[in-house]
Order: sequence, then C-alpha cells, then structure tokens
Amino acid sequence: MGLFGGRKTVVVDADILVIGGGMAGCGATYESRYWGRDLKIVCVEKANIERSGAVAQGLYAINCYMGMQWGENQPEDHVRYARNDLMGLVREDLGYDIARHVDSTVHKFEEWGLPIMKDPKTGRYQREGKWQIMIHGESYKPIVAEAARKAATQVYNRIMVTHLLMDAKNPKRVAGAVGFNVRTGDFHVFRAKAVIVSAGGASHIFKPRSVGEGMGRTWYAPWSSASAYALPIEVGAKMTQMENRIVLTRFKDGYGPVGAYFLHLKTYTQNGYGEEYEKRWYEDTKALVGEYIDHHPVPTCLRNHAIIKEVAAGRGPIRMVTKEAFQDPHKETVGWENFLGMTIGQAVVWASQNIDPKEINPELTTSEPYVMGSHATCSGAWASGPEDYAPAEYQWGYNRMMTVDGLFGAGDTIGGTAHKFSSGSFTEGRIAAKAAVRYVMEKGRDQPQVSEQEVRDLQKTIYQPLENYRVGRNEITAGTVSPSYLLPIHGLQRLEKIMDEYVGGISTNYMTNGVLLERGLELLAMLKEDMSHMGAEDLHQLQRAWELSHRLLASESVTRHTLFREETRWPGYYYRGDHMKLDDEKWHCFTLSRYERKSGEWTMEKAPVYHIID
Ligand SMILES: Cc1cc2nc3c(=O)[nH]c(=O)nc-3n(C[C@H](O)[C@H](O)[C@H](O)COP(=O)(O)OP(=O)(O)OC[C@H]3O[C@@H](n4cnc5c(N)ncnc54)[C@H](O)[C@@H]3O)c2cc1C
Repeated sequence: MGLFGGRKTVVVDADILVIGGGMAGCGATYESRYWGRDLKIVCVEKANIERSGAVAQGLYAINCYMGMQWGENQPEDHVRYARNDLMGLVREDLGYDIARHVDSTVHKFEEWGLPIMKDPKTGRYQREGKWQIMIHGESYKPIVAEAARKAATQVYNRIMVTHLLMDAKNPKRVAGAVGFNVRTGDFHVFRAKAVIVSAGGASHIFKPRSVGEGMGRTWYAPWSSASAYALPIEVGAKMTQMENRIVLTRFKDGYGPVGAYFLHLKTYTQNGYGEEYEKRWYEDTKALVGEYIDHHPVPTCLRNHAIIKEVAAGRGPIRMVTKEAFQDPHKETVGWENFLGMTIGQAVVWASQNIDPKEINPELTTSEPYVMGSHATCSGAWASGPEDYAPAEYQWGYNRMMTVDGLFGAGDTIGGTAHKFSSGSFTEGRIAAKAAVRYVMEKGRDQPQVSEQEVRDLQKTIYQPLENYRVGRNEITAGTVSPSYLLPIHGLQRLEKIMDEYVGGISTNYMTNGVLLERGLELLAMLKEDMSHMGAEDLHQLQRAWELSHRLLASESVTRHTLFREETRWPGYYYRGDHMKLDDEKWHCFTLSRYERKSGEWTMEKAPVYHIID
C-alpha cells in the first residue's frame, strides 16, 4: 500500500474554524453561533470535547469570578491583582476585557447545570479565596461541551491539527488548517474564512520530575502539546512573553493543587525542621527584585523562590502543615474532596505512601516548568485588543486577532493575560468568536483561497513518519531501534533534556545564562534537523510525532525569548545567572518574537507595557 493508500481525504468548508475544543474552544464555538446564526461553525479537536483539555478530569473551583452582582470585586481589581502577580507585566486591556465579562460566563455555567456551592449564611457563591468560587466540578467539561456541541454546525473529534493553511493570494492571511484522524488516518482539509486557535498550553517541553512509567504524571495535562503556539508561530504570528514559563508549588509526586489548602483550609508551610522560612529570604529577594517583594499578595514566583532557596540551603523538605486543619472534620472532608474532584492521583499517592494528612504533614515540591497563557503566567500570541479600551499601539484589527489576518486565539493561546483560568478562557473564546464573526461578515465576498499544491505538499509531510518507519523497520537492530529513524519518545526525551539542562529546568534549579541558552539553541537546531527522520509505527505514534514537532517549535521560541530578556524578572520561575536582578529601567516591557519559516530566522523586539489602570 502506498503512502496515502486506503485513506480518505475529507474536505470541510467553514466560516469559522475553532481548533481545540477545550474551555476556550467551547466558548468560541458557543459564541460564534450567537453572533453568526447562519454561519458554518466547525470545531476540530484531537481528543473528544466531552472530556478534553486541561479541565478534562473536572475541577473543584472556578478560579476567576469577580462577583460584581454583590460588589465583591470589580474588573479593575483583577487587573491590579494579575499585574502584581506577574511583576508588573500584563496586557491590561485584554485582562480588563475578560474580567468585565467573566461573571456572565459563570452564570451561564450555572444555568447549564454546573453545581456551584453556596455560602449558607449569605446565599452567595461560596468563596475559596478572593477570586475563586467552589464548585462540584466533576462534570464541568461535559456541561460546557454540551453547549458547544449544540452550537456547532459540526464537531470533528479525534482530528489532530498539524498545520494552518495560508491564503494563496495573500500570504499574511489564514485560510484554514489540515490534520489527520488519529483513529482512521483520514486526511482532513478545513477551508475557513476565519480560524480561532484554542489548542491549550504546553507540558513536557522540560524534563518532568516524574520518571519512567510515571512520566505521564505532570501538573499540566500531558496532552497539552504546544499546538496553541506552534500553529501560529509557523505562519509568522508574533508571540509575546514566551520566556514567562510557570513553575508550580504542588504536593509531591501527585502534583495535587494547594489552592484550597492555603485559601480555604488555612494551612501553611514549614521547612524540614518545622520552621517558618519565607521571612528568612526577605533580604535576599529584595536584593534581586526590590520593592516587588513588599507587594501584597506576594507574587507567586517569589514564594517559589523562597522554597527553592530553602531547599538548596539544605533545610528541606518543605511541608504543608495539614495536621491542625484536618482535626476539623469539615476541613478534612474538604481536603479529600478537593483531590477526589480533580486530582484523584494525589489521594492515591498519599494512600500508597502511608500519608494521612491528619497525622503527617505532606511534602511540597516545585514542578518542572510549563508554558501557558491562562494560569499564573502569560506566554502566548500577541493579539489586538478591544476597540473601546486598548491603546492605539495594541490595536491593528479585530479583538483577539493575532498579527496574521483572520487568525484569532483564546485561552492558553493568547499572551499577556494571566489568571484567566477556566472561566476566563471560556470568556476569551467568546470574545474572540464575536470578533471573528464580525471579521467574516465584513470581508463579505473577499474570501481566502486554498492552494491545492500547498495541501498536497502538507499531506505528504504529515504522513512521512509512517513511511520512514515502514522503510526503516527493515534495519531494526533490536526491539524497535533502527539507525534510519527517530521514534517520538526518543525525540521527546532529547527535547526535555535540552530544555532542562540549558533553558532552566529542574536539574539546574531553574538556572540558565546566555552561554547555556546559545548552546541550547544549537542542540535544538540539531534536533530540528533530525525531525525529518521521525518514524511512526502507527497512527498513535504519528500523533506523537506531530505533538513533538509542535513542542519543539514552541521550545525554540521559549529559548529565544529567555535569551532576549536580559534580566531575572520572575525569580522562582527561572534565573538568568548572568543577569540576576530585575531591571525595570530596561525590561519593563513585553518581549515579542516573529519566526520566518522559509529562512528559519527569528526577529526579536520589545513592546511597551501600558498601565491603563492606576
Ligand atoms: C491541573 C490543573 C488544575 C487546574 N485547576 C483549575 C481550577 O481549579 N480552576 C480553574 O478555573 N482553572 C483551573 N485550571 C486552568 C484551566 O484548566 C485552563 O485555564 C483552561 O483549561 C485553559 O483553556 P484552553 O481552552 O486554553 O485549554 P484546554 O482547556 O486545555 O483546551 C485545549 C484543547 O485543545 C485540544 N488540542 C490541543 N492540540 C490540538 C491539536 N493539535 N489539534 C486539535 N486539538 C488540539 C486539546 O485536546 C484540548 O481539548 C487548571 C489547569 C490544570 C492543568
């Protein structure tokens, strides 16, 4: 059978194509239908939207809710909060835009059947913290997916999107996407007038703490494979803050979340000797970042910094003091339910390690870095802001449109706007969709054209790893090892090792410098060369091969950005050993990059940070 033998080519025409049916993608699909009653709205997802994305397993809290109906918070307060946590650098226009709409999203979730806990005394939503409300969220994703399913003309599940298509007449305008069905192998061509990328963040670009068979246990979802970044990067979209990777303090080995413990159960941390340690690192941190250490709440990265320093000083492990809180039966129940509703693995780890948090204070650790734009960091695409609020320099078209015509994004995809979480990502999907519908309508008959040649070339490229394996397997020396191809798992481990050792992963205690980054780029370039020898035994491995390709391009972007920003803006997320201090004079700015795929060149620049809110 030839390379394409037995596989169908499926061509789909859409007005709006949503790539990735997670939180942002479901929001985009839902809202596209609201504004585009007669439009063809297509959502394409590599898993099944019923249980896909970072929220797949359910959540215990919605982390972004203002509570404006009760005067609890205003959108301006949320912008101040995110700005403080990100050491001054956020797109305030985008953050404000999400914050002013996010409550209406949460009210829709409740209307659709999501059980939100209520405070019995006030009747308001039960707060876990200033921004978080508590939910019975095991079915969070199916509830949200149902709304998207009803809104879409069609949802295509099990299609891994590998490349975007560009307009044959205008190389700066998007025209659709291609990918393959991970079960049947069919080739899919989506021709679209506007595309919304909402394909989640990136795990497994840095070596994880988990090893061997446990390697799939990471904090961010292991299936978050950086498509949200690679797809736009490859077609020349500008990216921002890609150096701003996130490191999480989590319960050891299971990556169980700590939010409910700190905020609701009022637990606290100690070093291995039962001592308070954060204050000990105050002067040290002040010398690095100045007055930022005096801000309240203390920025997340600086709290990580104290943990990293304390452990490096030989006084680990850091423990969460649960023994006191768990004496209260209500708190004990909440503590366990918190995991059972969202991270069952942590409960299993504790059971397997004889840890009863009522008797033993469990260990915490800092995770390997991840790249994402919706949690406490803001890596992602550089997007146009809201017409009524964004400074002129941040506006070049439609809200949430990237620097490529017709290409929109939401959730982890869009940079500069941390702390949107699940509800904010859905909201941003809605915002992007409204603008994308307007874009399609205003373009009228001026529609992009797809080049048949480009499609055929991509089809050959996409399936090449299967062919490499088919030929190379004749030279197998042992097991699956052949000198003629590289398997996805080997490529992944090589990528993780490079990023870990050269770009500030766990092995170097998050430390890097210009020399290491330059060498890291050389090694990434060698891996890139080898990607044409990727071998895939079956469709599952073919998906792994393309996920690796996306992770690699995103990793290169992270490395370029880390090299460009000559300061340590977020100690606790990573350190530039050659520029250990925060430098507001030179680097109170966004970093932007643009990749030129023909030459493989990257262009870096700075963009100003506008403080719109006092
Ligand atoms: C462990 C964990 C705990 C969290 N806890 C909370 C919490 O308590 N409260 C809260 O509000 N938020 C929480 N979040 C954050 C929240 O889950 C994210 O902010 C949100 O899911 C981001 O939305 P998104 O649409 O950008 O990405 P996702 O929801 O991850 O969706 C991305 C989608 O794209 C699909 N996809 C990826 N690549 C491709 C491709 N190439 N082709 C086709 N489809 C593709 C994926 O399968 C996925 O369905 C948590 C996240 C994690 C990982």
